[in-house]
Amino acid sequence: MAKVELIHHELVNDLLLLQWSDGSEHALPLASLRDNCPCAACAGEKDVFGNVYKGPAQVLNEISYEITGLQPVGYYALRPFWKDGHNTGIFSYDLLFSLANQKSS
Ligand SMILES: [Zn+2]
Repeated sequence: MAKVELIHHELVNDLLLLQWSDGSEHALPLASLRDNCPCAACAGEKDVFGNVYKGPAQVLNEISYEITGLQPVGYYALRPFWKDGHNTGIFSYDLLFSLANQKSS
């Protein structure tokens, strides 16, 4: 259960507009969304020893920062479908909220 609920989301150009249950609103740049992708290939996976394993380095270009669709995951997360085919990153509302607050402060 997320601390805040996402009431509404909307893609406008290169921004993801987010409206939260606490009344706040954010415009999150898609670039910062992609750069903070939490999936194993982007963020890496830790083994029991704390070593981080990442997938092969991804080549990012303009289309890597464009979204073709957003799929709600349960009632706690959004899964962006990036134009370069990447779609394994699942952004929990908590993550989106903290990213949005980093950017707006
Ligand atoms: Zn990723």
